[in-house]
Amino acid sequence: DAVVRFEDVHFAYVPERPILRGISFTVPAGRTVAIVGPSGAGKSTLSRLLFRFYEPQGGRITVDGQDIASVQQDSLRAAIGMVPQDTVLFNDTIGYNVRYGRWEASEAEVREAATLAQIDRFIAALPEGYDTPVGERGLKLSGGEKQRVAIARTILKGPPILVLDEATSALDSFTEREIQDALDRVSRGRTTLVIAHRLSTVVGADEIIVLDQGRIAERGTHLGLLDQG
Ligand code: ADP
Ligand code: ADP
Repeated sequence: DAVVRFEDVHFAYVPERPILRGISFTVPAGRTVAIVGPSGAGKSTLSRLLFRFYEPQGGRITVDGQDIASVQQDSLRAAIGMVPQDTVLFNDTIGYNVRYGRWEASEAEVREAATLAQIDRFIAALPEGYDTPVGERGLKLSGGEKQRVAIARTILKGPPILVLDEATSALDSFTEREIQDALDRVSRGRTTLVIAHRLSTVVGADEIIVLDQGRIAERGTHLGLLDQG
């Protein structure tokens, strides 16, 4: 399993406005680290830097000890599975949507990934709003279910590193629990970085990092952070 390390990373989109001011943390092999913090804190910027959409102006980011500045963006994309905040489904079955990106996967592998993400009961269904056969209606998936399709797709590809970007919108507590559950199952034993908006969705993380105004305001486990009140 891969190790991801941010070492004193500094970043600004525009010079006069620093977004990250010396961020250091490690995602150990097979562990889950969650980044939380208010909107605008720089959480998504961290994942953009990890994919080399931008380069840090100070410090460095390594994967397995190698500075990603010397790694091709294509190889980074192959190594890092990204589950985006909003998933756009393709005009085909949920099974096809899970298989997307790894066409050689067997039926059994597709089913296994779908089961892990708890969407296996939808495998044959067509999502609502797509070309369903005359007289048939598509399946209406909630936002949380759509995200689980994306989770299944990503784990089928089996990247050594997983990045999950959680919903910004308020989720009902049922959806939140479902997502948390799916997340716990897929991140177990996988090097995982979760970008989260609520502490409540990342209770299982090995470390939670609270970003505020470009710095790490607090870090610890869920219980530890609650204790500090
Ligand atoms: P978060 O994910 O924590 O909500 P972001 O990382 O998306 O925060 O953004 C951090 C800050 O950087 C915000 O103030 C945002 O407005 C700013 N920002 C994001 N993208 C850009 C960009 N492309 N150019 C300039 N500023 C940006
Ligand atoms: P619906 O879209 O059917 O009302 P939700 O209330 O679950 O379903 O979702 C609201 C919004 O949040 C949608 O845009 C959806 O894509 C998104 N969403 C839902 N759950 C998540 C999640 N865990 N992570 C990211 N985005 C999510």
